[in-house]
Amino acid sequence: MARQPGSRQLILEFFLKNLGKVVESRDIQSASGGAVEWARRVRELRNEEGYQILSQKDRADLKPNQYLLETTFRMPAFRRDISKETRAWVLERNGYTCQMCGAAAGDPDPFGGSRTVRLSMGHIVDKSKGGNDSPENLRAICTNCNEGLQNAAPPKPDRVHLLAQVRRATIDDQRALLKWLLQKFNLEVGDSH
Ligand SMILES: [Zn+2]
Repeated sequence: MARQPGSRQLILEFFLKNLGKVVESRDIQSASGGAVEWARRVRELRNEEGYQILSQKDRADLKPNQYLLETTFRMPAFRRDISKETRAWVLERNGYTCQMCGAAAGDPDPFGGSRTVRLSMGHIVDKSKGGNDSPENLRAICTNCNEGLQNAAPPKPDRVHLLAQVRRATIDDQRALLKWLLQKFNLEVGDSH
């Protein structure tokens, strides 16, 4: 079946009409005029037009057939122009951790709700100040920090408090922390049991 012209627009209108409400795939499909490839149109709205349509991958409380658009804010185009390879390289280099607040991809959102932390590309030197999209000028930034919420983020723990927390943690958690630190600094475990 040929792509139905306008189905992407129909789906967008449906999401905008239901802003902040969870919608189900069958409703999206019927709003699209019965487009067979409605899911691809949803991806295009996300990836090409920058609409932040959330799915089960973003929010644990969404079922596989549920979607949610909470804001009409669209991710600026330049953030989406960075190649997959560059993105993967930067994420790997930054240990899949937000370089502003330290949240890791997949962590529960520190601002609450059931969303998990998503990382995107941030510029070290802002584009408005002549920064470019080269891997050296990019870093992993969570969507909260990207949207300017970092000012409200909890302050970095001070060292005394942090060490006290680590001492109180279970041995299993301490081992997990050690493993993470060793990986982060490219070191090897001498005694692995
Ligand atoms: Zn962050």
